[in-house]
Amino acid sequence: MAAKITEKERHIFIENMFAKLENVTVESIVSSRIPLKHNGRHLLGLCPFHNDTHLGSFLVTPDRGIWKCFACGDGYAGNGIKFISLYDGIDYLQAAFKVALEKGIITYDEYSLYSQRQNYSESYIKKIAEKYDKEKKSSAKPLKMADIAIRHNVYHVIKDACQLSDQHMSQLKEERKLSDERINADYFTFPCLSWEKNNVIKKIREEYPEYTDEVLMTVPGFYYDRTKKKIAFYAVKGIGMLIHDVYGRVAAIQIRRDTIKEGQQRYIWFSSSFAPYEPDKYIGGTGCGSPRDILYPANTDRSILCITEGRFKSEVIRDFGNVTISLQGVGSQKGLDSDITEIMKELPIKSVFLMFDADSFGNTAVFLQLEKLICMLQEKFPSLKIRVVCWRKEYGKGIDDLYHNGKIKTVKYIESDLYVKTYRSVLSKILKSYETESLSDLKKLSLEEKKSFEDNLQQAEESIFLQ
Ligand SMILES: [Zn+2]
Repeated sequence: MAAKITEKERHIFIENMFAKLENVTVESIVSSRIPLKHNGRHLLGLCPFHNDTHLGSFLVTPDRGIWKCFACGDGYAGNGIKFISLYDGIDYLQAAFKVALEKGIITYDEYSLYSQRQNYSESYIKKIAEKYDKEKKSSAKPLKMADIAIRHNVYHVIKDACQLSDQHMSQLKEERKLSDERINADYFTFPCLSWEKNNVIKKIREEYPEYTDEVLMTVPGFYYDRTKKKIAFYAVKGIGMLIHDVYGRVAAIQIRRDTIKEGQQRYIWFSSSFAPYEPDKYIGGTGCGSPRDILYPANTDRSILCITEGRFKSEVIRDFGNVTISLQGVGSQKGLDSDITEIMKELPIKSVFLMFDADSFGNTAVFLQLEKLICMLQEKFPSLKIRVVCWRKEYGKGIDDLYHNGKIKTVKYIESDLYVKTYRSVLSKILKSYETESLSDLKKLSLEEKKSFEDNLQQAEESIFLQ
């Protein structure tokens, strides 16, 4: 039963608590759950919401008071309280009470009275979250991203202006086994030397004189450099790849870095989202969102659509005659349904194969995202047969490894309902052996216990699906 305090008392107490929570930094809240490492103006950590093995996707930005996972995408961003609410599996208001208690803002008695012994309506909690889950004001408002027609044109000029180096050519041909046709269509050596960059800008000016500085500074990757008094773009050494939307237009550029230092990601987006934070140095600049990468096969008589993660996986799947959609992480599903609808207008798609990396078996967060994806597909596309593609981890992490090492015939295509049902039952058996029934209790396990839990889960899955 709710303890006897008035609505108004509760309201005042909560407002006061949030006012004090404003002074608690996002990094102190996030680092109370996961380790973080300084990197420039950000802190990096391994994302607890997807199968993260390398620093880079999960960022905490103290001067904006926010965190974000670029792999998980929509919904996996916000302030410190939002992080606790997702991590601990509780609602936004409960998370605020918990942080306030942990940071000594409220006493245990107050926590017990206002949090544990009260019922708050969903609509109230939603209102509170909307009011407080905001970032601190940044220095300059990022500009709206240039529309797809402009991006398509500008990115094509960059590619056409840049030769592929011998080193990159042999990487793509020998290691990745791409055809000349595919290499010519989408790949180039990213321009880094200043004459190369000047040449790119000159070519854009020649071909599209209507793209003024004001237009170019809204194309992800570009910004206006106040010191040099001219348009410039972000560059790193590596292979540039054109990323296409469902209509074949170039929506973005991804770059595969030649070399990586600790904490850096191998694949990065051509983006200038950093520029608005240094308004005395730059004007404009914008991020590219989390674009999906869609590849169509040369012949379109096959009826299979594959969903995976990563361009070089898409390439081998396409090579086998399938349409592929590469997501920026299995959790990044917003808008995917409309892409599939568009594809189905053109092609006789009958089956969807989900081809995510083998090590995702043991990761319950990845499973939950996969389950969500399967539910969405079943609900919106009831005519499609959905299969989860599984293989032994020792044969390779990604589906592309199996194509290249000849183990592709060992993969199993598991009907999605069976997959979810089996996974759930194995999961609950293993949870019981850890004397818990809820996934959120897993957070109480030590790192070592968590590792052994995931190994057990992985082994059980492999023994069922891959005998
Ligand atoms: Zn993530």
